[in-house]
Amino acid sequence: MSITKTASELKKEQQQEQESLNLFLSTQTVIQEALQKLGYGEEVYHLLKEPLRMMTVRIPVKMDNGSVKVFTGYRSQHNDAVGPTKGGVRFHPEVNEEEVKALSIWMSLKCGIVDLPYGGGKGGIVCDPRNMSFGELERLSRGYVRAISQIVGPTKDIPAPDVYTNSQIMAWMMDEYSRLREFDSPGFITGKPIVLGGSQGRETATAKGVTICIEEAVKKKNLNLQEARIIIQGFGNAGSFLAKFMHDAGAKVIGISDAYGALYDPLGLDIDYLLDRRDSFGTVTNLFTNVMTNEELLEKECDILVPAAISNQITVRNAHRIKASIVVEAANGPTTLEATRILDEKGVLLVPDILASAGGVTVSYFEWVQNNQGYYWSEEEVAYKLRKVMVDSFETIYQISQENDVDMRLAAYMAGIKKSAEASRFRGWV
Ligand code: GLU
Repeated sequence: MSITKTASELKKEQQQEQESLNLFLSTQTVIQEALQKLGYGEEVYHLLKEPLRMMTVRIPVKMDNGSVKVFTGYRSQHNDAVGPTKGGVRFHPEVNEEEVKALSIWMSLKCGIVDLPYGGGKGGIVCDPRNMSFGELERLSRGYVRAISQIVGPTKDIPAPDVYTNSQIMAWMMDEYSRLREFDSPGFITGKPIVLGGSQGRETATAKGVTICIEEAVKKKNLNLQEARIIIQGFGNAGSFLAKFMHDAGAKVIGISDAYGALYDPLGLDIDYLLDRRDSFGTVTNLFTNVMTNEELLEKECDILVPAAISNQITVRNAHRIKASIVVEAANGPTTLEATRILDEKGVLLVPDILASAGGVTVSYFEWVQNNQGYYWSEEEVAYKLRKVMVDSFETIYQISQENDVDMRLAAYMAGIKKSAEASRFRGWV
Protein backbone atom coordinates (compact mmCIF):
# COMPACT_ATOMS: atom_id res chain seq x y z
CA MET A 1 0.00 0.00 0.00
CA SER A 2 1.35 3.43 -0.89
CA ILE A 3 2.00 5.77 2.02
CA THR A 4 1.96 8.87 -0.16
CA LYS A 5 -1.41 10.59 -0.29
CA THR A 6 -3.24 10.88 -3.58
CA ALA A 7 -3.99 14.34 -4.93
CA SER A 8 -7.68 13.94 -4.14
CA GLU A 9 -6.91 12.88 -0.55
CA LEU A 10 -4.70 15.91 -0.10
CA LYS A 11 -7.35 18.19 -1.59
CA LYS A 12 -9.96 16.72 0.75
CA GLU A 13 -7.70 17.30 3.72
CA GLN A 14 -7.07 20.87 2.67
CA GLN A 15 -10.79 21.46 2.22
CA GLN A 16 -11.54 19.98 5.63
CA GLU A 17 -8.99 22.19 7.25
CA GLN A 18 -10.29 25.27 5.47
CA GLU A 19 -13.82 24.47 6.46
CA SER A 20 -13.00 24.11 10.13
CA LEU A 21 -11.24 27.49 10.12
CA ASN A 22 -14.59 29.08 9.31
CA LEU A 23 -16.14 29.58 12.75
CA PHE A 24 -19.66 29.92 11.43
CA LEU A 25 -19.59 26.66 9.43
CA SER A 26 -17.94 24.67 12.19
CA THR A 27 -20.49 25.98 14.72
CA GLN A 28 -23.31 24.82 12.44
CA THR A 29 -21.68 21.41 12.05
CA VAL A 30 -21.53 20.82 15.81
CA ILE A 31 -25.05 22.21 16.40
CA GLN A 32 -26.40 19.75 13.86
CA GLU A 33 -24.58 16.89 15.54
CA ALA A 34 -25.75 18.00 19.01
CA LEU A 35 -29.39 18.31 17.92
CA GLN A 36 -29.25 14.86 16.32
CA LYS A 37 -27.89 13.37 19.55
CA LEU A 38 -30.71 15.08 21.46
CA GLY A 39 -33.27 13.62 19.05
CA TYR A 40 -34.39 16.85 17.36
CA GLY A 41 -35.24 16.83 13.65
CA GLU A 42 -34.06 18.91 10.71
CA GLU A 43 -36.59 21.74 11.15
CA VAL A 44 -35.19 22.60 14.59
CA TYR A 45 -31.71 22.67 13.05
CA HIS A 46 -32.92 24.97 10.26
CA LEU A 47 -34.28 27.40 12.84
CA LEU A 48 -31.19 27.40 15.05
CA LYS A 49 -28.39 27.27 12.48
CA GLU A 50 -28.69 31.02 11.72
CA PRO A 51 -29.51 34.07 13.85
CA LEU A 52 -33.14 35.24 13.75
CA ARG A 53 -32.03 38.83 13.20
CA MET A 54 -28.90 40.56 11.93
CA MET A 55 -28.66 44.35 11.74
CA THR A 56 -25.89 46.13 9.84
CA VAL A 57 -25.43 49.82 10.57
CA ARG A 58 -23.27 52.64 9.25
CA ILE A 59 -22.06 55.07 11.89
CA PRO A 60 -20.71 58.48 10.89
CA VAL A 61 -18.21 59.79 13.44
CA LYS A 62 -16.59 63.22 13.59
CA MET A 63 -12.86 62.54 13.98
CA ASP A 64 -10.51 64.80 15.93
CA ASN A 65 -8.96 66.19 12.74
CA GLY A 66 -12.34 67.51 11.56
CA SER A 67 -13.02 64.79 8.97
CA VAL A 68 -15.98 62.41 9.13
CA LYS A 69 -15.36 58.68 9.06
CA VAL A 70 -18.16 56.18 8.51
CA PHE A 71 -17.80 52.96 10.53
CA THR A 72 -19.66 49.69 9.94
CA GLY A 73 -21.30 47.96 12.91
CA TYR A 74 -23.37 44.83 13.47
CA ARG A 75 -25.80 43.42 16.01
CA SER A 76 -26.86 39.82 15.68
CA GLN A 77 -29.63 38.16 17.70
CA HIS A 78 -29.51 34.41 17.45
CA ASN A 79 -32.67 33.23 19.19
CA ASP A 80 -34.97 34.88 21.72
CA ALA A 81 -37.24 31.93 22.54
CA VAL A 82 -35.71 31.56 26.02
CA GLY A 83 -35.68 35.29 26.79
CA PRO A 84 -34.00 38.53 25.73
CA THR A 85 -30.75 38.10 23.82
CA LYS A 86 -27.45 38.83 25.52
CA GLY A 87 -23.85 39.28 24.45
CA GLY A 88 -20.90 41.60 24.06
CA VAL A 89 -19.88 44.21 21.50
CA ARG A 90 -16.36 43.98 20.11
CA PHE A 91 -14.33 46.77 18.56
CA HIS A 92 -11.78 45.24 16.18
CA PRO A 93 -10.48 45.87 12.65
CA GLU A 94 -11.29 42.29 11.62
CA VAL A 95 -14.90 42.20 12.81
CA ASN A 96 -17.15 40.84 10.07
CA GLU A 97 -20.73 39.74 9.63
CA GLU A 98 -20.08 35.98 9.69
CA GLU A 99 -17.99 36.21 12.84
CA VAL A 100 -20.63 38.24 14.67
CA LYS A 101 -23.29 35.74 13.60
CA ALA A 102 -21.23 32.79 14.88
CA LEU A 103 -20.46 34.59 18.13
CA SER A 104 -24.17 35.29 18.72
CA ILE A 105 -24.91 31.58 18.33
CA TRP A 106 -22.16 30.85 20.86
CA MET A 107 -23.81 33.22 23.30
CA SER A 108 -27.02 31.12 23.07
CA LEU A 109 -24.90 28.07 23.81
CA LYS A 110 -23.10 29.72 26.74
CA CYS A 111 -26.36 30.96 28.25
CA GLY A 112 -27.85 27.48 27.81
CA ILE A 113 -24.89 25.82 29.53
CA VAL A 114 -24.98 28.03 32.62
CA ASP A 115 -28.78 28.09 32.53
CA LEU A 116 -29.44 31.82 32.17
CA PRO A 117 -32.86 33.11 31.01
CA TYR A 118 -31.38 34.53 27.79
CA GLY A 119 -30.78 33.72 24.16
CA GLY A 120 -27.58 34.77 22.45
CA GLY A 121 -26.67 38.09 20.84
CA LYS A 122 -23.45 39.75 19.71
CA GLY A 123 -22.32 43.03 18.27
CA GLY A 124 -19.23 44.43 16.67
CA ILE A 125 -17.80 47.51 15.03
CA VAL A 126 -15.06 47.42 12.40
CA CYS A 127 -12.51 49.83 13.89
CA ASP A 128 -9.12 49.86 15.57
CA PRO A 129 -9.57 51.37 19.04
CA ARG A 130 -5.77 51.27 19.55
CA ASN A 131 -5.51 54.12 17.05
CA MET A 132 -8.49 56.19 18.21
CA SER A 133 -8.70 58.98 20.77
CA PHE A 134 -10.97 58.88 23.82
CA GLY A 135 -13.31 61.42 22.20
CA GLU A 136 -13.54 59.46 18.95
CA LEU A 137 -14.31 56.27 20.85
CA GLU A 138 -17.04 58.01 22.82
CA ARG A 139 -18.70 59.39 19.67
CA LEU A 140 -18.47 55.97 17.99
CA SER A 141 -19.98 54.19 21.03
CA ARG A 142 -22.87 56.65 21.24
CA GLY A 143 -23.44 56.50 17.47
CA TYR A 144 -23.65 52.71 17.60
CA VAL A 145 -26.31 52.81 20.33
CA ARG A 146 -28.38 55.35 18.36
CA ALA A 147 -28.10 53.13 15.28
CA ILE A 148 -29.25 49.90 16.98
CA SER A 149 -31.58 51.42 19.61
CA GLN A 150 -34.76 50.00 18.02
CA ILE A 151 -33.73 46.38 18.54
CA VAL A 152 -31.99 46.56 21.95
CA GLY A 153 -33.17 47.24 25.51
CA PRO A 154 -33.26 45.71 29.00
CA THR A 155 -35.99 43.24 28.01
CA LYS A 156 -34.96 42.82 24.36
CA ASP A 157 -31.21 42.50 23.90
CA ILE A 158 -28.57 43.43 26.46
CA PRO A 159 -25.02 44.27 25.26
CA ALA A 160 -21.80 43.89 27.29
CA PRO A 161 -18.02 44.22 26.89
CA ASP A 162 -16.03 42.00 24.55
CA VAL A 163 -12.70 42.27 22.70
CA TYR A 164 -11.27 45.82 23.11
CA THR A 165 -14.37 47.23 24.82
CA ASN A 166 -14.48 48.04 28.53
CA SER A 167 -16.52 49.56 31.37
CA GLN A 168 -15.97 53.13 30.10
CA ILE A 169 -17.46 52.23 26.73
CA MET A 170 -20.40 50.51 28.51
CA ALA A 171 -20.92 53.73 30.52
CA TRP A 172 -21.13 55.89 27.38
CA MET A 173 -23.51 53.40 25.76
CA MET A 174 -25.73 53.25 28.86
CA ASP A 175 -25.82 57.05 29.04
CA GLU A 176 -26.77 57.35 25.37
CA TYR A 177 -29.54 54.77 25.71
CA SER A 178 -30.89 56.42 28.88
CA ARG A 179 -30.96 59.81 27.11
CA LEU A 180 -32.80 58.37 24.11
CA ARG A 181 -35.42 56.72 26.33
CA GLU A 182 -35.51 59.65 28.79
CA PHE A 183 -35.17 57.45 31.88
CA ASP A 184 -32.23 55.88 33.62
CA SER A 185 -31.72 52.39 32.16
CA PRO A 186 -28.87 50.59 33.91
CA GLY A 187 -30.30 47.20 32.84
CA PHE A 188 -29.73 48.08 29.16
CA ILE A 189 -26.09 46.99 29.30
CA THR A 190 -23.75 45.05 31.62
CA GLY A 191 -20.07 45.42 32.45
CA LYS A 192 -20.64 49.00 33.65
CA PRO A 193 -18.48 50.79 36.21
CA ILE A 194 -19.64 49.95 39.77
CA VAL A 195 -20.83 53.52 40.39
CA LEU A 196 -23.25 53.25 37.42
CA GLY A 197 -24.80 49.96 38.53
CA GLY A 198 -22.00 47.57 37.60
CA SER A 199 -21.61 44.38 39.60
CA GLN A 200 -18.84 43.48 41.99
CA GLY A 201 -16.67 40.85 40.37
CA ARG A 202 -17.74 41.49 36.76
CA GLU A 203 -14.31 42.60 35.55
CA THR A 204 -12.61 39.42 36.74
CA ALA A 205 -15.57 37.10 36.07
CA THR A 206 -14.33 35.49 32.85
CA ALA A 207 -10.94 34.70 34.41
CA LYS A 208 -12.63 33.41 37.60
CA GLY A 209 -14.80 31.10 35.51
CA VAL A 210 -11.75 29.80 33.65
CA THR A 211 -9.95 29.32 36.98
CA ILE A 212 -12.83 27.22 38.32
CA CYS A 213 -12.80 25.09 35.14
CA ILE A 214 -9.04 24.56 35.54
CA GLU A 215 -9.53 23.49 39.16
CA GLU A 216 -12.21 20.99 38.14
CA ALA A 217 -10.22 19.69 35.15
CA VAL A 218 -7.12 19.20 37.30
CA LYS A 219 -9.16 17.02 39.68
CA LYS A 220 -10.36 14.85 36.79
CA LYS A 221 -6.78 14.35 35.63
CA ASN A 222 -5.47 13.70 39.16
CA LEU A 223 -3.04 16.58 38.94
CA ASN A 224 -2.08 19.01 41.68
CA LEU A 225 -2.68 22.66 40.78
CA GLN A 226 0.19 23.78 43.03
CA GLU A 227 2.61 21.68 41.00
CA ALA A 228 1.12 22.44 37.61
CA ARG A 229 2.93 24.40 34.89
CA ILE A 230 0.67 26.70 32.93
CA ILE A 231 0.98 28.52 29.62
CA ILE A 232 -1.51 31.28 28.84
CA GLN A 233 -1.78 32.66 25.33
CA GLY A 234 -3.10 36.24 25.51
CA PHE A 235 -2.77 38.89 28.20
CA GLY A 236 -6.07 40.74 27.80
CA ASN A 237 -8.98 40.81 30.26
CA ALA A 238 -9.20 37.00 30.55
CA GLY A 239 -5.51 36.07 30.20
CA SER A 240 -4.03 38.67 32.55
CA PHE A 241 -6.44 38.11 35.47
CA LEU A 242 -6.12 34.36 34.94
CA ALA A 243 -2.31 34.59 35.17
CA LYS A 244 -2.77 36.41 38.47
CA PHE A 245 -5.26 33.88 39.87
CA MET A 246 -3.08 30.93 38.85
CA HIS A 247 0.02 32.57 40.30
CA ASP A 248 -1.85 33.30 43.56
CA ALA A 249 -3.08 29.69 43.67
CA GLY A 250 0.54 28.54 43.67
CA ALA A 251 0.65 27.23 40.10
CA LYS A 252 3.68 28.04 37.97
CA VAL A 253 2.85 30.34 35.04
CA ILE A 254 5.71 29.55 32.64
CA GLY A 255 4.45 31.29 29.49
CA ILE A 256 2.31 34.24 28.48
CA SER A 257 1.88 36.13 25.22
CA ASP A 258 0.28 39.14 23.57
CA ALA A 259 -0.46 39.99 19.94
CA TYR A 260 3.22 40.70 19.26
CA GLY A 261 5.03 37.74 20.86
CA ALA A 262 5.47 35.44 23.82
CA LEU A 263 7.53 35.18 27.00
CA TYR A 264 8.58 31.80 28.32
CA ASP A 265 10.54 30.74 31.38
CA PRO A 266 10.36 27.11 32.60
CA LEU A 267 11.17 28.35 36.12
CA GLY A 268 8.09 30.60 36.19
CA LEU A 269 7.45 34.21 35.13
CA ASP A 270 7.18 37.22 37.45
CA ILE A 271 3.46 37.75 36.91
CA ASP A 272 3.06 40.77 39.22
CA TYR A 273 5.83 42.57 37.32
CA LEU A 274 4.20 41.80 33.95
CA LEU A 275 0.74 42.86 35.14
CA ASP A 276 2.18 46.10 36.35
CA ARG A 277 3.63 46.89 32.96
CA ARG A 278 0.94 45.73 30.52
CA ASP A 279 -0.96 48.48 28.70
CA SER A 280 -4.76 48.67 28.55
CA PHE A 281 -4.81 46.47 25.40
CA GLY A 282 -2.75 43.77 27.13
CA THR A 283 0.57 44.48 25.42
CA VAL A 284 3.70 43.73 27.43
CA THR A 285 6.16 41.68 25.34
CA ASN A 286 7.38 44.83 23.54
CA LEU A 287 9.39 45.61 26.68
CA PHE A 288 11.54 42.48 26.27
CA THR A 289 14.15 41.25 23.79
CA ASN A 290 14.01 37.47 24.44
CA VAL A 291 10.59 37.04 22.85
CA MET A 292 9.36 33.95 20.96
CA THR A 293 6.36 33.63 18.66
CA ASN A 294 2.85 32.69 19.79
CA GLU A 295 3.10 29.50 17.69
CA GLU A 296 6.28 28.43 19.47
CA LEU A 297 4.77 29.06 22.89
CA LEU A 298 1.77 26.80 22.26
CA GLU A 299 4.03 23.80 21.66
CA LYS A 300 6.17 24.18 24.78
CA GLU A 301 6.19 21.56 27.54
CA CYS A 302 3.47 22.30 30.16
CA ASP A 303 0.57 20.67 32.03
CA ILE A 304 -2.18 23.17 31.28
CA LEU A 305 -2.50 25.27 28.14
CA VAL A 306 -4.99 28.16 28.06
CA PRO A 307 -5.54 29.81 24.68
CA ALA A 308 -7.01 33.15 25.79
CA ALA A 309 -6.43 35.26 22.69
CA ILE A 310 -7.99 34.70 19.29
CA SER A 311 -9.57 31.93 17.22
CA ASN A 312 -7.92 29.14 15.18
CA GLN A 313 -4.72 28.85 17.20
CA ILE A 314 -4.66 25.05 17.60
CA THR A 315 -5.23 23.47 14.19
CA VAL A 316 -4.32 20.24 12.39
CA ARG A 317 -0.91 21.77 11.80
CA ASN A 318 0.17 21.94 15.45
CA ALA A 319 -2.32 19.82 17.46
CA HIS A 320 -0.01 16.78 17.36
CA ARG A 321 2.76 18.81 18.96
CA ILE A 322 0.72 20.17 21.90
CA LYS A 323 2.30 18.81 25.11
CA ALA A 324 -0.35 19.87 27.67
CA SER A 325 -2.65 17.24 29.17
CA ILE A 326 -5.37 19.85 29.80
CA VAL A 327 -6.43 22.58 27.35
CA VAL A 328 -8.90 25.14 28.67
CA GLU A 329 -10.26 27.49 26.00
CA ALA A 330 -10.65 31.00 27.40
CA ALA A 331 -10.84 32.58 23.92
CA ASN A 332 -13.68 32.01 21.48
CA GLY A 333 -12.88 29.24 18.99
CA PRO A 334 -9.13 28.78 19.55
CA THR A 335 -9.19 25.08 18.56
CA THR A 336 -10.55 23.81 15.25
CA LEU A 337 -12.82 20.76 15.08
CA GLU A 338 -10.10 18.56 13.55
CA ALA A 339 -7.64 19.68 16.21
CA THR A 340 -10.25 18.91 18.90
CA ARG A 341 -10.42 15.38 17.55
CA ILE A 342 -6.63 15.01 17.51
CA LEU A 343 -6.34 16.25 21.11
CA ASP A 344 -9.15 13.93 22.20
CA GLU A 345 -7.37 10.95 20.62
CA LYS A 346 -4.19 11.94 22.45
CA GLY A 347 -6.12 11.81 25.74
CA VAL A 348 -6.01 15.57 26.30
CA LEU A 349 -8.91 16.91 28.38
CA LEU A 350 -10.22 19.90 26.43
CA VAL A 351 -12.60 22.26 28.24
CA PRO A 352 -14.43 24.07 25.44
CA ASP A 353 -14.79 27.83 25.10
CA ILE A 354 -18.56 27.92 25.52
CA LEU A 355 -18.16 26.41 29.00
CA ALA A 356 -14.80 27.84 30.10
CA SER A 357 -15.59 31.45 29.18
CA ALA A 358 -19.17 31.48 30.48
CA GLY A 359 -18.19 33.21 33.76
CA GLY A 360 -18.41 36.64 32.12
CA VAL A 361 -21.99 36.35 30.96
CA THR A 362 -22.95 34.69 34.25
CA VAL A 363 -21.89 37.72 36.27
CA SER A 364 -23.46 39.95 33.60
CA TYR A 365 -26.70 38.18 34.40
CA PHE A 366 -26.12 38.88 38.11
CA GLU A 367 -25.52 42.54 37.22
CA TRP A 368 -28.78 42.73 35.25
CA VAL A 369 -30.72 41.07 38.10
CA GLN A 370 -29.25 43.60 40.56
CA ASN A 371 -30.16 46.47 38.20
CA ASN A 372 -33.73 45.20 37.89
CA GLN A 373 -34.04 44.84 41.67
CA GLY A 374 -32.15 48.02 42.52
CA TYR A 375 -30.47 45.96 45.24
CA TYR A 376 -26.74 45.26 45.13
CA TRP A 377 -24.76 42.23 46.29
CA SER A 378 -21.37 41.95 47.99
CA GLU A 379 -18.28 40.66 46.21
CA GLU A 380 -18.43 37.46 48.30
CA GLU A 381 -22.02 36.82 47.29
CA VAL A 382 -21.21 37.22 43.59
CA ALA A 383 -18.12 34.97 43.92
CA TYR A 384 -20.08 32.28 45.76
CA LYS A 385 -22.90 32.26 43.20
CA LEU A 386 -20.47 32.23 40.26
CA ARG A 387 -18.52 29.30 41.71
CA LYS A 388 -21.68 27.26 42.15
CA VAL A 389 -22.83 27.91 38.58
CA MET A 390 -19.44 27.06 37.06
CA VAL A 391 -18.79 23.92 39.14
CA ASP A 392 -22.29 22.56 38.43
CA SER A 393 -22.01 23.35 34.70
CA PHE A 394 -18.59 21.72 34.44
CA GLU A 395 -19.82 18.57 36.16
CA THR A 396 -22.98 18.39 34.01
CA ILE A 397 -20.98 18.62 30.80
CA TYR A 398 -18.34 16.20 31.99
CA GLN A 399 -21.11 13.70 32.77
CA ILE A 400 -22.81 14.21 29.40
CA SER A 401 -19.48 13.57 27.70
CA GLN A 402 -18.88 10.38 29.71
CA GLU A 403 -22.40 9.03 29.30
CA ASN A 404 -22.57 9.67 25.57
CA ASP A 405 -18.92 8.90 24.90
CA VAL A 406 -18.41 12.25 23.16
CA ASP A 407 -15.77 14.94 23.67
CA MET A 408 -16.46 17.87 26.01
CA ARG A 409 -17.14 20.20 23.07
CA LEU A 410 -20.00 18.14 21.68
CA ALA A 411 -21.27 17.59 25.24
CA ALA A 412 -21.26 21.36 25.81
CA TYR A 413 -23.12 21.98 22.54
CA MET A 414 -25.73 19.40 23.58
CA ALA A 415 -26.27 21.12 26.94
CA GLY A 416 -26.11 24.58 25.34
CA ILE A 417 -28.55 24.18 22.47
CA LYS A 418 -31.16 22.21 24.44
CA LYS A 419 -32.88 25.22 26.03
CA SER A 420 -33.23 27.16 22.76
CA ALA A 421 -34.62 24.06 21.05
CA GLU A 422 -37.07 23.29 23.86
CA ALA A 423 -38.23 26.90 24.22
CA SER A 424 -38.74 27.24 20.45
CA ARG A 425 -40.81 24.04 20.56
CA PHE A 426 -43.00 25.22 23.45
CA ARG A 427 -43.61 28.54 21.72
CA GLY A 428 -44.79 26.61 18.69
CA TRP A 429 -42.11 27.96 16.37
CA VAL A 430 -41.03 24.52 15.15
N1 GLU B 1 -18.43 39.14 25.79
C1 GLU B 1 -18.56 38.18 26.83
C2 GLU B 1 -18.78 36.81 26.23
O1 GLU B 1 -18.50 36.59 25.08
C3 GLU B 1 -19.60 38.57 27.85
C4 GLU B 1 -20.99 38.70 27.33
C5 GLU B 1 -21.95 39.26 28.36
O2 GLU B 1 -21.52 39.52 29.47
O3 GLU B 1 -23.11 39.44 28.01
O4 GLU B 1 -19.16 35.89 26.89
